[in-house]
Amino acid sequence: MKNYIIYGADILTFDPAAAYLTGYALKVESGKISRIAPYAELKDEHCESINAEGKILMPGLINAHHHFYSTMVTGFGKAASSGDFNEVLQNLWWRLDKKLMQRDCYVSAAISAINAIRSGCTTIIDHHASPYHITGSLASIAEAVRDTGIRANLCYEVSDRDGIERRDQGIEENLEFLKLYGEEQDEYIKALFGMHAAFTLSDESLHKIAEIVVPAGFGIHIHAAEAQSDQRYNLDHHGKHVVERLADFALINPKSILAHGVHLSPKEMMMVSELGAAIVTNPQSNLNNAVGIANVCKMTELGITVGLGTDAMTVKMLEELRVGLWAQHLRQDNPSAGFMEIASTLLFNNPRIAQKYWGAGHGTLTAGANADMILVDYDPHTPLNEETWIGHVIYGISQARVDSTIVGGEFLMWDGSMLLGLDEAELRSESRSLSQALWERF
Ligand SMILES: [Zn+2]
Repeated sequence: MKNYIIYGADILTFDPAAAYLTGYALKVESGKISRIAPYAELKDEHCESINAEGKILMPGLINAHHHFYSTMVTGFGKAASSGDFNEVLQNLWWRLDKKLMQRDCYVSAAISAINAIRSGCTTIIDHHASPYHITGSLASIAEAVRDTGIRANLCYEVSDRDGIERRDQGIEENLEFLKLYGEEQDEYIKALFGMHAAFTLSDESLHKIAEIVVPAGFGIHIHAAEAQSDQRYNLDHHGKHVVERLADFALINPKSILAHGVHLSPKEMMMVSELGAAIVTNPQSNLNNAVGIANVCKMTELGITVGLGTDAMTVKMLEELRVGLWAQHLRQDNPSAGFMEIASTLLFNNPRIAQKYWGAGHGTLTAGANADMILVDYDPHTPLNEETWIGHVIYGISQARVDSTIVGGEFLMWDGSMLLGLDEAELRSESRSLSQALWERF
């Protein structure tokens, strides 16, 4: 792995201590950032120098909740129209995921990862379901992740909805994958224990999962209070809110990710805050499913680390960030509310969440961190500095072209050209054929 310095770019570090740097250079050694210093101090280093004038150098973006397999629904129009979120699940997702086959898992992940590289996203926390091809599905996704060069945290969503046998296969799939990737074994691929949602898991299932997760200290990745119906079900059938029920089984710990949290009670928010788990908001998905808008301001005020995911609506994190901000303005009925709370989800909290799996500094440009970075073509037409950089990210850089994407010091894209060992056109062609076949099986 070669060593090099990048100079000439304005640097956004996502480190609040020194967020904007100009006149600096960054040195990469053995896949890590070894130094960030004024260019004058680094220019005589005996290694390759990359001139990035006219560009912004910033961390590779992190998607904290995604579904690779959803890649295969782009343009799909066969699902019956739905009156509420549960009908969306029944009419589309729970019909479609049953039809996924092993190769679909690989190809959908590879296409989504390639799209992520093109838009500057280098770390993805994914949540997978393919209930009729469970065993080995995570290995297929991991292979795609490896082939594209990004980093991903994978899990299989355990659910009772397809019967006890498939629930147990799902548990086994998580367990086998966690044995391989649950800790420090791999620098690129990580694992969590996936669960669909509390409303598709009986107490017996939660007990069974807790027996595995709690002693091992695994984090869970689950949809929580996405729609009001999740809360209603848990209250009607178990007399508890979603978070109270999960916490009663000791399933929530600091490594856990609760996706959505649109309908959490203040008491549940306090519990999540105390238990140290993250909530990942997915504003485009929530708007699309008409389930509501998460109260990110309130959750932040209560000390929760709120991250940003896309729930597979896109892999463009800066698009999701913008929509998150507009949605929060609407949620708070105040066009000035939520700016820092929403900006922090992507810029500061997603790195904090990812650091639980990938280690110190991940998702930031700081010495010792993984050299996961992007270069963006951006020649600001208004002052760019320590005070204005976040506004530039949301309103300006989000509209600019990602020029280059680097993971572990390796260029996966350079000047807009992909440098993968994969044949992208061939893969897209295969994806069209597989999607056509999937749609016909639907
Ligand atoms: Zn989701």
